[in-house]
Amino acid sequence: MPHVKELLETLEYGPAPEGEELAIRWLEDHSRRFGHFVGGEWTEYDDAGSMSVQNPSRNAELARMSVASPEVVDTAVAAARKALPAWGKLGGTGRARILYALARQIQKHSRLFAVLESLDNGKPLRETRDLDIPLVARHFYHHAGWARLLESHAPGYGPVGVVGQIIPWNFPLLMCAWKVAPALATGNTVVLKPAEFTPLTALLFGELCARVGVPAGVVNILTGGGETGAALAGHPDVDKVAFTGSTEVGRILRRQTAGSGKRLTLELGGKSPFLIFDDADLDSAVEGVVDAIWFNQGQVCCAGSRILVQEGMEETLIARLRRRMENLRMGDPLDKGVDMGAIVAPVQLERIRSLVEQGEAEGAQIWQPSWAVPAKGCFYPPTLCTGVSPASLLAQVEIFGPVVTVLTFRTPDEAVELANNTRYGLAASIWSENINLALDIAPRIHAGTVWVNCTNLFDAASGFGGVRESGFGREGGEEGLWEYLRPVKAPAPVAWLRERRKKQGNVSADEGRDAEGTAPTGLAPFPIPGEDSGSGSAALDRTAKLYIGGKQVRPDGGYSLVVTDPKGHPISEVPRGNRKDIRNGVEAARKAQGGWGATAAHTRAQILYYLAENLEARSGEFQARLREVVGASRKDARAEVEAAVERLFVYGGWADKWEGRVHPTPFRNVTLALPEPVGVLGLIAPPERPLLAAISLLAPALSMGNTAVLVPSEPAPLLATDLYQILDTSDVPGGVVNIVTGGSRELAGVLALHDDVDGVWAFGSAELAREVEAQSAGNLKRTWVNYGIPMAWDDPQVAQGPAFLRHATRIKNIWVPYGA
Ligand code: NAP
Ligand code: MG
Repeated sequence: MPHVKELLETLEYGPAPEGEELAIRWLEDHSRRFGHFVGGEWTEYDDAGSMSVQNPSRNAELARMSVASPEVVDTAVAAARKALPAWGKLGGTGRARILYALARQIQKHSRLFAVLESLDNGKPLRETRDLDIPLVARHFYHHAGWARLLESHAPGYGPVGVVGQIIPWNFPLLMCAWKVAPALATGNTVVLKPAEFTPLTALLFGELCARVGVPAGVVNILTGGGETGAALAGHPDVDKVAFTGSTEVGRILRRQTAGSGKRLTLELGGKSPFLIFDDADLDSAVEGVVDAIWFNQGQVCCAGSRILVQEGMEETLIARLRRRMENLRMGDPLDKGVDMGAIVAPVQLERIRSLVEQGEAEGAQIWQPSWAVPAKGCFYPPTLCTGVSPASLLAQVEIFGPVVTVLTFRTPDEAVELANNTRYGLAASIWSENINLALDIAPRIHAGTVWVNCTNLFDAASGFGGVRESGFGREGGEEGLWEYLRPVKAPAPVAWLRERRKKQGNVSADEGRDAEGTAPTGLAPFPIPGEDSGSGSAALDRTAKLYIGGKQVRPDGGYSLVVTDPKGHPISEVPRGNRKDIRNGVEAARKAQGGWGATAAHTRAQILYYLAENLEARSGEFQARLREVVGASRKDARAEVEAAVERLFVYGGWADKWEGRVHPTPFRNVTLALPEPVGVLGLIAPPERPLLAAISLLAPALSMGNTAVLVPSEPAPLLATDLYQILDTSDVPGGVVNIVTGGSRELAGVLALHDDVDGVWAFGSAELAREVEAQSAGNLKRTWVNYGIPMAWDDPQVAQGPAFLRHATRIKNIWVPYGA
């Protein structure tokens, strides 16, 4: 008889399958055929063009779903629009009750949800049961609380309106909750499109909505493919599009919605670094890798897919990882003892295979455990790739599967450099027992979330979202609420633009500006033959230059623009900046950004105060300029300069007071929500209020540690060029402010297109807004535009304060564990 010890060592796990009867019964109750959930009711299943819903672990059909045509999208958006006023009137407490009810119902039916999710997606039940569904309930509870608190927390703010929400297949119900909970809490109504691979739990959620009394039309759920998503995003009566998915589709949506007035948030892909320093607790780090890349079969946008390990540790790490990989269990996702389930669909499986093969062909060494994956179903083994170079395919492309690469670094600086060597910026993990080191590295990594000695932790109290090509916007936490709110006093952009079109009868009339996008008002292109040969009339002697890197510089092209007074008399010339000048400005701003961003807030405040004092000292001059250039009355000119001085003082005050938060996340840690500067900002000042508006943009940007390339008011750029000396004498470091005069739309387009610009704020016409939003799709920089909606620059309630600071910063959440 074998010894007990021996028995324990050789004992195989028996299968421990979860029953699926409940889920099957639910499917059968619907005859495995689903319509859409619109206006509180189910539409008839429509076989025409319907799609198959598959269980990828068995390659078997679970059900069929209808595909929403543009007409169905139209009906759903109309239902959401109709429901909006009453939903708002219900108030925070009324909405909170409904969100609580949803949370409770999800808990009560958690087993059904967990099994259904596992069947549809292929992910292990252990994950849906212990992670996805509890987090879904948590999101609804958390946002029920916000619904109640909103009135006092965000006075003057209300819902954005009807929101089109498009989600991926990797966390189907969780993504649904991340989208729906904050939208409902803030009084919006939604039309949600789940991914075509995984519609079932969203459909079940629709049923719960009807059961708990979510008013008809507040939540609408449409199934279908990318075309349904495109129709939803493109619908003219949608006020906001909230998207989670690939960077590729994110880019399409950015272009599609450009200029429409729709708010947009994008949660996109990633290639997140997993840094292991030589003082890390290696056993924990190995378990961390399991959670980082083998959790959900690696189909996680923030998967730690790039291990960066300190030299000297590599061999030990790889040996331990291999041992651990041998012990991972893969199989029927409903088996409670299984670590890894199936890949969501054959096409994803093929994609993973093909990428790994390409990586191997590029010279990477591929290692997989000795056990065989189940013969039937979409299974791919955990995979470890070594011998990859930082620029190789495997280290750069998001694989979205259980595939991890290992690279080494020598010093912390090199670790940061390698970590940031990606187009993405979603998340990172840092493993070190030295808290000083970890907290020194965390702020230096481009990512929305940084986990210290942990990974893939989520909570409703902590915002989630990316930077760079991982998108913009946050979901969850206080920071996520603002994505669904807008000032109630300001018009809703989509409706405002529609009204304007109606009034004008014809949009193209407004778009008939000159080919290069320079507005003709008051400015005429004026070629100067070269300075030495003299430049025309004596009245035009005072030719300003550009201001780049702290110096006045000549423009690249030999063109100037004549600035005239309101009667059309020439006053002066300014350079007509071009692409090259903008590039130089951006380069200078980039060079200065690290230093300025790291400058103590106290010091930035002092510099803003100094600017204010110096502007005040020259108030008379600026007032005279305003009278001359825009024909301002004495009173108005004085008021504008005074307001500009005041604004500089106010943001000097804010510099060390726009604080982060500490999110009370569970799991023995605290989460530091740190506002960071966005980086290099392009600022396009509107034509009006040429001094005050420019300062209103510059001051918050600088206060928060951004550097800027400012394109001043096109008809009245002299108010900005007159600032050069003030900037010089106020200790503003060279490169922090760069000023390029010229055609606003032309230069805005160049800034929006520039890959080293992190954000563009463009105030001016609707066409300017369209240009900026469309051109920003390249690196998916953040944009902030007003679509030509009049802006009360004189009103500090509107043109100064937290809204500007939120645009000037982005939240990085750093999860810091505690416990000995
Ligand atoms: P995807 O192709 O971008 O699809 C996402 C959603 O968009 C699906 O519902 C899809 O419909 C829909 N869609 C496709 N084309 C569209 C279009 N032209 N217009 C509007 N909607 C369109 O991404 P996926 O392959 O499903 O998901 C994987 C990606 O999502 C990965 O890159 C991952 O990193 C990212 N992701 C990011 C996060 C995050 O929070 N940042 C979270 C999860 C996943 P169909 O399903 O019918 O194609
Ligand atoms: Mg499926």
